[in-house]
Amino acid sequence: MFVKFWGTRGSIATPGNDTVKYGGNTTCIQVCRDEGPAIIFDGGTGIRALGLELMKSMPVEAHVFISHTHWDHIQGLPFFVPLFVPGCKVNFYGAFDPVYHRGLADILKAQMDYCYFPVREGELKAEISYRSLKEGETVSVGGARVTAVLMNHPVMNFGYLIEADGQKMFFTGDHEPPRNIYEPGDEEYEEYGEILQLKNESIYEKIRDADMIVADSMYTEKEYPAKVGWGHGTHSTCLEMARQVGAGSVVMTHHEPIRLDAELDAIDAEFRGKRSDDDPKVVFAREGLMIDVGQGE
Ligand SMILES: [Zn+2]
Ligand SMILES: [Zn+2]
Repeated sequence: MFVKFWGTRGSIATPGNDTVKYGGNTTCIQVCRDEGPAIIFDGGTGIRALGLELMKSMPVEAHVFISHTHWDHIQGLPFFVPLFVPGCKVNFYGAFDPVYHRGLADILKAQMDYCYFPVREGELKAEISYRSLKEGETVSVGGARVTAVLMNHPVMNFGYLIEADGQKMFFTGDHEPPRNIYEPGDEEYEEYGEILQLKNESIYEKIRDADMIVADSMYTEKEYPAKVGWGHGTHSTCLEMARQVGAGSVVMTHHEPIRLDAELDAIDAEFRGKRSDDDPKVVFAREGLMIDVGQGE
């Protein structure tokens, strides 16, 4: 199993000379296998080019797993050409929003409201289905198993574990490792710490021994104190997650929009420099990169 990155940026697309290397499109990841239909994680602006690539082999059957419905993860969908073509099949999967009581179908249809886009969802010509998943639910797609794992983000967010061809890959979507809201010495500190431990363990248990983890590593450690509660991890928290579950490699993605190529190069070099032999391989995702899940490169 291979993974190809069509969008690696968090929050908003960032075209320009200083983001050419790592890419400016927002989150979209394709799972590439020898057989079976297309499996895609998230529909950020990167899905536009992926759609054009898939159209080279008609008819397209695509299974699109949406981590959550923040703009940077769905904004490319109205430009995903297979949706417009009769004979193509596009199946969407994602969480039901328990706060606003809205399923994925409602949210994606609203995204194509006539105020925002000139083609309405009802006018799309592909055969389209929507399926709301529950936490822990597994979907089979062409011999691959995809399981939804609840993560920590300001809106309901699923990470997805894909098991196929004897390998496991986990994509976190957007995720901030839960933190203790009490200070050491506070009465509730220890009890809350135990709850957090259980929360983290429940994620780790599901993804243990993953060959590769693709993780939201938006911030540096230095930036993080000003961003607590924004729902994103740091390069260090992603590496720690990969260590905890014994992953073979961790791919850092969802790059902060202000992060220029030279800065990502420097962070990459820093992590290579401090890697010990037992550590997972660390890779910084860039647009167009294709990685062998088993090899981590
Ligand atoms: Zn995001
Ligand atoms: Zn988000």
